[in-house]
Amino acid sequence: MPQSWNSLITILSEITRNNLESSICCPHCSNCDLHIRWGFYSRYLFNGELINIQRYRCDNDQCSHKTFSILPHAFLPIVRTSLCMLMYILKMYQHGCCIADIARNTGSSWPKIQRWIIRALSIREWFKKEYRKDSPCLLPVSRWSSFTQKFSWAFYPKRL
Ligand SMILES: [Zn+2]
Repeated sequence: MPQSWNSLITILSEITRNNLESSICCPHCSNCDLHIRWGFYSRYLFNGELINIQRYRCDNDQCSHKTFSILPHAFLPIVRTSLCMLMYILKMYQHGCCIADIARNTGSSWPKIQRWIIRALSIREWFKKEYRKDSPCLLPVSRWSSFTQKFSWAFYPKRL
């Protein structure tokens, strides 16, 4: 893990940008051939830059869903932070950093850091149950799609 918050943000934004066009398969029916580009939505990179995420229309007749998008590593569903950022903050906190210090270090607000610590703790606990190990900062790109699906089911079941 990089030493400073700013280099972490830079690296994560770079990883995410590079993963925008990874292999494209419908997460609902696993078909990788029958889809067309179908608009996009925007998300902010961790460094504040706005990028477009491609949406696809799945043309498999058997598929239960109509459209899908592939969330690039290291984006998480709905959550604006990344696993690495959450684990970084949690580590600082558990090494005795107070919330005000972490907020100053990361250029964030006190309430935001407090929210992130609570979220980091619950993600770490869930990850231990689900995968029987500590939450990693980054996962292999090939496993990102199944990971983010499990993550959504666990934390945002109503949004699916
Ligand atoms: Zn499909």
